[in-house]
Amino acid sequence: MADFETPVLREYPIIPLLRVDSMAHSRTFVAKAEYQTPIGFPGELVENWEQKAVDKLGELVSKSRALQVFLDSCVKCGACTDKCHYYLGTDDPKNMPVARQDLLRSVYRRYYTFAGKVVPWLVGARDMTKDVLDEWYNYFHQCSQCRRCSVYCPFGIDTAEVSMAARDIMDSVGVGQRYTNEIIGKLHKIGNNLGLPEPALANTLEGLEEDVKDETGVDVKFPLDVKGADILLVTPSADFFAEPHIDGLIGYAKVFHAAGASWTMSSYASEAANFSMFIGSHDNLRKVALRIRKAALDLGVKRIVVGECGHAWRVAYSFWNTLAGPFDFLDPRYPIPQHICEYTYDLIQKGALTFDKSANDDKVVTFHDSCNVARASRMGDMPGGQFVIPREVIKAVVNNFVDMAPETTHEATFCCGGGGGLLTDDLIELRVKGAMPRMQALKQVVEENGVTHMAAICAICKAQFTKVVPYYKYEMDMIQSVHGLVSKAIRLTPSDK
Ligand code: SF4
Ligand code: SF4
Repeated sequence: MADFETPVLREYPIIPLLRVDSMAHSRTFVAKAEYQTPIGFPGELVENWEQKAVDKLGELVSKSRALQVFLDSCVKCGACTDKCHYYLGTDDPKNMPVARQDLLRSVYRRYYTFAGKVVPWLVGARDMTKDVLDEWYNYFHQCSQCRRCSVYCPFGIDTAEVSMAARDIMDSVGVGQRYTNEIIGKLHKIGNNLGLPEPALANTLEGLEEDVKDETGVDVKFPLDVKGADILLVTPSADFFAEPHIDGLIGYAKVFHAAGASWTMSSYASEAANFSMFIGSHDNLRKVALRIRKAALDLGVKRIVVGECGHAWRVAYSFWNTLAGPFDFLDPRYPIPQHICEYTYDLIQKGALTFDKSANDDKVVTFHDSCNVARASRMGDMPGGQFVIPREVIKAVVNNFVDMAPETTHEATFCCGGGGGLLTDDLIELRVKGAMPRMQALKQVVEENGVTHMAAICAICKAQFTKVVPYYKYEMDMIQSVHGLVSKAIRLTPSDK
């Protein structure tokens, strides 16, 4: 365990007393040139970086009306101050969303507003200095871009956009984050975040076929690069190897099998995640999305289904069409793209799947809404489908389901604490403290309702929770994939064999 104190979980959420600069020491590793240059950024802090950073800020504001409105319209009402899990978990006032925005806003004011140019000291305007850059680096890497604060802001100011802009500016002057940028580079080069090459992937999938055959006696396939398949499954690469993610992948395969679907994965686009969103890099975002388009075209599929990954679903649902569309070569009778939960839910509605819910009777399950699914996308053709559909899938396969407190679920869900490019061991203190509000809500249903497991539909949430729940005295295997629960309960009939 690391050298910091895990927050104490209290019965009711308490707005913390301020501890100024309590997280000023939190600084994720800066990317070296080997991680910066392959994805189009300078390898180190460039000459005349102050002016270049200010110019980049001006460019971003001129291109994004939303960013300009966010920087211009805050009235300091304070509604967002206690809404960030990092503030609640660290007590550091710079982790209040409004204060985080002000780190950038103060520079914007200085260079792009009349008052900031003439009377900077009156309007909280600051010069772009090395101290400011360092503060940006530390605190914009304490924002998981979860957008919870924006739900409570009367103007809808989205701190995630401000945080992405800040990281974009820092990358443009040569100060990027190692964790995220290394991963983006691997994806460009190999096709997935893990750097898992095609032979290793094929080997893994063959191993899974054998495992499932041993478990069920059924020949469930995990097809790779099958030309002419109907469905391309694009899933986070964590699904290929880690617990509990891999149980989810097995669940998808069993559902496809039970449905008699013709499906495949792609070794070229073996990754649903797109970390470029975290650094606000449109060029990288587009390049990664185009890999999926190319794979779909090369394989000649009719549909694309996306596995359990929160930010990947946001990118797919909200951005794919403009980044890599039009997807007019896909079958318009199906959602483009479709979430795996939508796919399974449709089959459940049609009575096409058989479950033995008692297979999950050793569990009382709760569900963690992932931020990017909850606040930045939708599922199905009903308002709030992104909340209803995963819950309905869970309820179809477990007998015991309990929701956590409403102020911590649905649109108000708390981030797991590891999103937005922060899922790295050098930020473990932040991750543990940022998970505190979710852990508090979990503790309540554990104690009052006997909850034993928490399911999620996001690879980052699952990885983050399995790492941090032991700090709060829970077992890491209490974290489940939704399709891991499906996998346990689904019954593959003899005709499927
Ligand atoms: S987007 Fe999320 S992490 Fe960032 S300031 Fe808002 S609540 Fe905090
Ligand atoms: S809620 Fe919105 S307007 Fe109010 S302080 Fe926060 S960002 Fe500013």
